[in-house]
Amino acid sequence: MNWLTNLIRPRIRSLVEPKDVPDNLWQKCSGCEGMLFHRDLLENMNVCYHCGHHLRITVKDRLELLFDDGAYDNIDLPEVAHDPLKFKDRRKYADRIKDSRAKTGLKDAITIAKGTMGGIPVVIAAFNFSFMGGSMGAAVGEALLKAAEEAVKSNAAFITVPASGGARMQEGMLSLVQMPRSIIAVEMVKDAGLPYVVLLTDPTTGGVSASFAMVGDVHIAEPGSMIGFAGRRVIEETVRETLPDDFQTAEYLLEHGIVDMVVKRQKLKETITNVLSMLMKKPQPEKAKTGNGSGKKSRKDNPKANGKAPPANGEKADMARGKREVADKALLQVKTAQKAARRISKPQSKTTTKTKAKSAAKKVSKG
Ligand SMILES: [Zn+2]
Repeated sequence: MNWLTNLIRPRIRSLVEPKDVPDNLWQKCSGCEGMLFHRDLLENMNVCYHCGHHLRITVKDRLELLFDDGAYDNIDLPEVAHDPLKFKDRRKYADRIKDSRAKTGLKDAITIAKGTMGGIPVVIAAFNFSFMGGSMGAAVGEALLKAAEEAVKSNAAFITVPASGGARMQEGMLSLVQMPRSIIAVEMVKDAGLPYVVLLTDPTTGGVSASFAMVGDVHIAEPGSMIGFAGRRVIEETVRETLPDDFQTAEYLLEHGIVDMVVKRQKLKETITNVLSMLMKKPQPEKAKTGNGSGKKSRKDNPKANGKAPPANGEKADMARGKREVADKALLQVKTAQKAARRISKPQSKTTTKTKAKSAAKKVSKG
């Protein structure tokens, strides 16, 4: 039987088994299942050239697509305490972060960058969905605040590009408090009279869609993006109704007034640039001439200046500082509450009550 196992079997196997084709050359479209050649796909900005389905793109590609000439400056993410709860589910949270960092080469689920779009200064905060589902923890919240501060400082428009499953559950309450903190970040920008644009991409859900992603001056979405808060099944079970097929899609939200525009990826840069140039048109050119220092004075001189006039640079910085204090206070409150909770929960465990009782007994006997 030697000839059978040694000669015939490998031949048959070579016929039946799939050949070693580099798996990165072709990709299947998740919309129409059509095969896509990598080079053509790249040229088409990761949009399927059979059906127009928008496949996900990396943050790097996203930023290159938006900024002028694909050039931008990365802003370092602020340092935060990673894994403050020493959380562990099936795996340690610390290990999960380590893995995601190794896999993506990124520090956390967000990238912030500065540059121009059509010559207009812009700060973009874009989510990395491949990093733990783009979930929003302390690092992301802190980054959003930093990006907003940077926008105020450099008089730039603020753009967020969410792609997220929501809050990072491994950080518990600390991840939830990032929701109001992200709103504070947006308020900083709005107080400074600067535009805030949200580019909703697939998917935008959970705590992210319930916070900064829904308070933009203008909401632009990529076609077919899944945008919603809770999952479809959960809602169907709760309201006991069958939801329409296009429920929670960019197009459905456009029809219902939550999204302002659904724009193809190829047209995104042009559209956002147009929106920004409309929003940032400065009606008072003489103010620009007076420069930073006397900005306040020129506002006083202007009889039209009322509550609606854009604040001067110094004021903007003050406002941003005030907001930052509020944001930090919110975080501090959560941390204090957590500490208190830990203190309360400790005596409930049997051992500690026992030891406490023992020490109390000792004290009594000594006394
Ligand atoms: Zn397709």
